[in-house]
Amino acid sequence: MTHALTAHTTLSNGVKMPWLGLGVWKVKDDGEAERTVASAIEAGYRSIDTAAAYNNEEGVGAGIRNSGIARDEIFVTTKIWNAHQGYDSTLTAFEDSRRKLGIEVVDLLLIHWPVKDKYLETWRALEKLYRDGYVRAIGVSNFQIHHLQDVITAGEFVPMVNQVEYHPLLTQTELHAFAKSRSIQLMAWSPLMQGNLDQSVLADIAAKYSKSPAQVVLRWDLQNEVVTIPKSITPARIKENGDIFDFTLTSEEMAQISALNQDHRFGPDPDNFNF
Ligand code: NDP
Repeated sequence: MTHALTAHTTLSNGVKMPWLGLGVWKVKDDGEAERTVASAIEAGYRSIDTAAAYNNEEGVGAGIRNSGIARDEIFVTTKIWNAHQGYDSTLTAFEDSRRKLGIEVVDLLLIHWPVKDKYLETWRALEKLYRDGYVRAIGVSNFQIHHLQDVITAGEFVPMVNQVEYHPLLTQTELHAFAKSRSIQLMAWSPLMQGNLDQSVLADIAAKYSKSPAQVVLRWDLQNEVVTIPKSITPARIKENGDIFDFTLTSEEMAQISALNQDHRFGPDPDNFNF
């Protein structure tokens, strides 16, 4: 791994994706999204994770366009929302996202949640968009092993990415092993436990490296080979979250952090959600 925000993983189809990006859930589209994206790009970030459901694709697009950085140097992820799942409605929803973002080709398109009886048709639409060159990579989000197996059996392509809730309280060991065995890149949402970083193990390790608990958790993601997308609207924190390429956790520290696992979700359970 190079020591920079441009450090990347290579997806199963050869596309390069930065290990660290900015998450923008709950970032408002009234100028906040544009400002936040600009501030991240200024800090060296080259990857942004948005979704139709976040209602900020226009601001994200504006932030990217006004950054002065070439479009092809920034990796843009968006997602198909649950209400738009199904073959035709996915194609329409994608056009909508593309128009709002104001970009020609989306780097990564994900199915946001595994909506029962819908996600296989949605996947078929993603495969078409991929084959036709509108997206550089396709994947899923919030898929458990059985959902992945379904898609792998029915589909032409294996999802390149699975974005799931992942942090020290939810280490997803089995899902991660399965994903690795199929060359599916795991991507962590709510990596900072939505700000609930108050754990003495994290504080102790952070003190040793003169880093913050947030930086320790994000470093743990990287060393576990999980793409991570911390969200912040605070410029100092955006910078801080990107400053994780100059220290290395020992295998003991990695294990101590993983031992915090309680299979605890801050978000919904992918096998039992009603939206
Ligand atoms: P995170 O775990 O990234 O935590 C964000 C919170 O932590 C904010 O309150 C932020 O505050 C705070 N924070 C950020 N940096 C620091 C720091 N260095 N020290 C202390 N606190 C900090 O939460 P998210 O749920 O937003 O997850 C990240 C991204 O994952 C989302 O933005 C979205 O892109 C994606 N996601 C995807 C989902 C899916 O279903 N696919 C579901 C949920 C999230 P502040 O902003 O005020 O600085």
